[in-house]
Amino acid sequence: MLPSDLASLLILGVGGMITVLVGLWIYYDRRDHAFYDVTRRKATFHCLKCSRLYTAVAAGDLNPCPRCGHPNPRLRF
Ligand SMILES: [Zn+2]
Repeated sequence: MLPSDLASLLILGVGGMITVLVGLWIYYDRRDHAFYDVTRRKATFHCLKCSRLYTAVAAGDLNPCPRCGHPNPRLRF
């Protein structure tokens, strides 16, 4: 059943636009939150064997160097 008068069409249109905007807002908010959460969990490591600095998602205190494979502790500031 479609509304026939102009006010109902206007309310339906504005309501639809608000629904789309809120949906886009929630989508981009969740996407950015997931992106920055992964970035925030990264830790910096310094290889004691080859002196390379690298970052990785910190699963523990030790992370292997991508160049030589030596396990290194994370840097703490
Ligand atoms: Zn290394």
